Amino acid sequence: MPAFDLVIRHGTVVTAADTMTCDIGIRSGKIVALATELSDAAETLDASEKLVLPGGVDAHCHMDQPMGGDVVMADDFYTATRSAVCGGTTTVIPFACQFKGGSLQDAVDDYHRRATGRAVADYAFHLIVADPTPEVLRHELPALIQSGYTSFKIYMTYDDLKLNDYQLLSVLAVARQEGAFVMVHAENADCIAWMVEQLEAAGQTDPRYHATSRPMVVEREATHRAIALSELVDVPILIVHVSGKEAVEQIRWAQNRGLKIYAETCPQYLFLTEEDLGGEGFAGAKCVCSPPPRDRANQQVIWDSLVNGVFQVFSSDHAPFRYADPQGKQVQGDRTPFPYIPNGIPGIETRLPLLFSEGVGKGRLDLNQFVALTATNPAKLYGLYPRKGAIAIGSDADLVIWDPQRKFTLTNAQLHHNVDYTPYEGMQLTGYPEITLSRGEVVWRQGEMLAIAGRGLFLPCDRSPYARPKVRV
Ligand code: MN
Ligand code: MN
Repeated sequence: MPAFDLVIRHGTVVTAADTMTCDIGIRSGKIVALATELSDAAETLDASEKLVLPGGVDAHCHMDQPMGGDVVMADDFYTATRSAVCGGTTTVIPFACQFKGGSLQDAVDDYHRRATGRAVADYAFHLIVADPTPEVLRHELPALIQSGYTSFKIYMTYDDLKLNDYQLLSVLAVARQEGAFVMVHAENADCIAWMVEQLEAAGQTDPRYHATSRPMVVEREATHRAIALSELVDVPILIVHVSGKEAVEQIRWAQNRGLKIYAETCPQYLFLTEEDLGGEGFAGAKCVCSPPPRDRANQQVIWDSLVNGVFQVFSSDHAPFRYADPQGKQVQGDRTPFPYIPNGIPGIETRLPLLFSEGVGKGRLDLNQFVALTATNPAKLYGLYPRKGAIAIGSDADLVIWDPQRKFTLTNAQLHHNVDYTPYEGMQLTGYPEITLSRGEVVWRQGEMLAIAGRGLFLPCDRSPYARPKVRV
């Protein structure tokens, strides 16, 4: 029997720390050898002139999340994870969302039913705590954290999800007690509600007024408040989808004071502006997401903050809604007022190519930073490292053979999500995944998706090394 099931030969192997030319030996889905020359393999893949990267870890993405009303997410676990592996992402962490009046355990059970038999990439779940009843806080949440759901998201806005400050504190206290890791959506709900009312009264309901209704100050205030609440409880948090300068200033201020405040940004804050919400007719609805894209000066601050370490994670915030669809962006027709347009844009497949081309290709980020932001740091933050996000002995053989020279014009036709548009249509990019491997299996090869629905495994998460250690009693 050969020593290896597969050897990847002569690639430039890049991790968050190192760049080296070596062979990678794989057996039973795991990396078992790194050496200058490996032989005795059942199969080999030649990676000369190519990069070999850890498979991407998308720690913030939505798929088949029940929305309520007439709106339906376009991607289920099959189409979303198919899209992920074609874009070089091998691990996804979507959200099991509690409903007000519902139990958290029911949300988790329901979400497992949606994932099982469909996922082609490995997946873990974050929880969304939308109704922190005494039962949830005392029993359900601690039990779920114990069984591998070690991170959760809480919201300061959206009527069906938002928590008031008292509730935020109660949930943060459970995270502190149990050693869980908390993500916060920071926008001020009352400011938004008030702005929406003014705009609706003035008849200003085109998509572009979505941006008007949630200006930077609304995010800045909530970011500051989230930081203050985290400081009061003494528990680390991560601020998700940071959109611009004023929120960055709050985060940097907190980090400079020694607070454990982590932060994430997403492609829409590097590549879109509020002008993309304008457009002909209703087309701006394609770019409606929250927080909204800002302007060029804010984009620059987001780039700088990726480079200088304010951000640890770069996620897609893939939230797939079809454009020409009454279950999607046009839920009330092609003049749907902005407060009713589903929030979110697709991006699970384009996350790595966009950041590689515009970040690494344009000299803003080095290769090791690219790997850290897109794979290693999210795996570490959410308790999946070193199984995921690493090229190391014993890690899962989740790898991308990346062609750094491949030039192409991005079109929605080449993507594998179930969404009828990409906000990045027509961008000229350089660099694309040639082959994606998940646990040693080729799942994407030169334009062909080869994975079978249901091969993806659920990943229980360890407690985050960035969370406060669980209090022993
Ligand atoms: Mn959010
Ligand atoms: Mn989101």
